[in-house]
Amino acid sequence: MSDILSASPRPNATLHLAHDLNEEQRAVVEADPQPLLVLAGAGTGKTRTLTYRVARLVARGCPPPRLMLMTFTNRASREMIMRVQRILAVDMRQCAAGTFHHVGNRLLRQYADTIGISSDFGILDPEDCRDLLSGLIAERGLHKLSTRRFPSAKALHAIVSLSAGTRIAVEEVLRRSYPRFVEQTATIVQLAEAYAARKMRINVCDFDDLLVLWLRLLQHGRRPQVQELLGRFDHILVDEYQDTNALQGAIADAMASHSRSLTCVGDDAQSIYDFRGADVGQMLGFKQRHPDARLMTLTLSYRSIPEVLALSNRSIAHNKEQHQKSLRPVRAPGPRPALLALRDVFQQAEFVAQRVIELHHERGIGLGDVAVLYRNHSHSLELQVELTRRKIPFVIRSGTRFFEQAHVKDVIAFLRARANPHDELAWNRLLRLWPGMGMQTAQRLAEQLSKNSNAPSAPSAFEWATREGTTMVRDSMQRLTTLWSALDGMGETGPAQTGPSEQIRTIVEHHYGAYADHNFTDAPRRREDLKNLASFATRYARDIDLLRELALMEGIVVDQDESNQEPGEKLVLSTIHQAKGLQWRHCFVLWLARGKFPAMHTLRSARSMEEERRLFYVAVTRAADELYLCYPTLDEGHATPLRLMTPSPFVTELDHDPPVMDQWEIEETPA
Ligand code: ATP
Ligand code: MG
Repeated sequence: MSDILSASPRPNATLHLAHDLNEEQRAVVEADPQPLLVLAGAGTGKTRTLTYRVARLVARGCPPPRLMLMTFTNRASREMIMRVQRILAVDMRQCAAGTFHHVGNRLLRQYADTIGISSDFGILDPEDCRDLLSGLIAERGLHKLSTRRFPSAKALHAIVSLSAGTRIAVEEVLRRSYPRFVEQTATIVQLAEAYAARKMRINVCDFDDLLVLWLRLLQHGRRPQVQELLGRFDHILVDEYQDTNALQGAIADAMASHSRSLTCVGDDAQSIYDFRGADVGQMLGFKQRHPDARLMTLTLSYRSIPEVLALSNRSIAHNKEQHQKSLRPVRAPGPRPALLALRDVFQQAEFVAQRVIELHHERGIGLGDVAVLYRNHSHSLELQVELTRRKIPFVIRSGTRFFEQAHVKDVIAFLRARANPHDELAWNRLLRLWPGMGMQTAQRLAEQLSKNSNAPSAPSAFEWATREGTTMVRDSMQRLTTLWSALDGMGETGPAQTGPSEQIRTIVEHHYGAYADHNFTDAPRRREDLKNLASFATRYARDIDLLRELALMEGIVVDQDESNQEPGEKLVLSTIHQAKGLQWRHCFVLWLARGKFPAMHTLRSARSMEEERRLFYVAVTRAADELYLCYPTLDEGHATPLRLMTPSPFVTELDHDPPVMDQWEIEETPA
């Protein structure tokens, strides 16, 4: 690519602004360099307009390295930069583009010494941070306090991070967002200081530090260097401005303090990171911070057909805190969004898979033009299985595939070893989950067990092992024996075989739950996943049926990795947070049931309900052509079999005249 690209635009590189943009968009692209805020609804071309503004600046002589473009993901910025490259045939790789963290990291490496830090600092990911905090908590003996009285390492990290992002002191963060820990303020503040000091000492930064130090550099760095840095950039541009926090807002302002050229675009209705300290107030306070700012808007909506737009607008109108925006659809009318009340999550998964096949085979829609969106990663569980069963290729944008996660594999290892005692790998995996089991001991025992266990259900299989090894190993083996008997015993009173679901629950109750609490900083989430796994497993009468299904999933994973070259041909599964800024022709939204979406913990606060509704708004505005809203009516929970689910208020509140969606009837499939 680079050999056909030049460092500056070709003399004949022309922009066809009149052709590619509407008048409002062109006004933004051509606006003089000054603080500029574009506040506009979903799909009005904010990102496109920002891209063209970059292109025009370059076309008029601004060298790419003198531009700084901040976006929500590095992928988004890459796409924008590639677009400019294509339009102008200019090499844009030297443009400072990416997330705030990405750009901050690069600058800090160059300017670290001006604020007295070493430029070879390491970076801690959130898990590392929690480990570091756990260590500090334990050093002070605070780990013995219940998490009701004292924050866990994870909560502490969230508090420290919120304080950094909002630029509000820890004391105040506790008062506002964590009142239950206010009594512990002094200790928490001291811990936060110790955390900062420890990071300095071992020469590491966490993600927040990349921003905190960047701002510190701009405000307190040695003047000549700061002047030099500010002089390097002529224009600062920010996409998705509604989700910047106070810290990022201050950085953008400071970076533009010399050039005065700051272009920010965003949509207050799509602000979905309040829980991490994103602050729409940034956007609303723009004019106060920049009295010379120009506010502009875009009112033509290009992405969605009018029917999808009507539904989105009716939804967001329920939020009190929002800017009224007029949006006029450009596209021709199409079908009204569909509302589907499905029997349960399995039927929900079947419906989506079936509909995707129809769209693909009967209407020729590319799989890459279809997305399934959900609030939580675990909401995609049944669908992953259904798609695998039907051999529909898919990519997951919301994290690891459910069944590839360590905790799921750990628990499944117990079932595997029971079903096939010769499975040495499964033995090895499950043995390592017990105290005293190093790699070597586990390996040796796994070999023995896989050779000897002809009657794996009998605790006697472990007898020889309980006589061997250290006290800790013997202890562990005794506890494993008890668990094994419990798993056997389950079959004795009831039917000959209790289902794998009961077994999974027993494994978690007897051992794995405590193991997770001890070993993972996000244990509650993992426990939740395992609950979901147990209720998923109720579908299988015998453990071997479940295991067969999972083995099939693993086989498919390999196929899918190989076909990575054609990303366009895969259905996309994504959390809504990860789908921000993107679009697909057809979108499904799953689990629109009260307590799932909106999530249970948000139901009681008006503020978090508004954030959840904005999340719903982001989901529905991703759809260009067709939108399907799905919810299961029965929840076959583990504790309470067959609970009736209520549809999400986000769906029921839309239901008045004129209608904005059609209720679809689904034929009952035989169970
Ligand atoms: P979001 O709020 O979701 O981030 P957005 O405002 O950034 O959306 P874009 O993603 O830039 O909107 O644009 C939405 C779609 O509309 C894209 O496919 C874009 O190419 C198209 N579009 C925007 N403006 C025009 C235009 N003037 N002519 C043709 N297509 C356009
Ligand atoms: Mg956008």
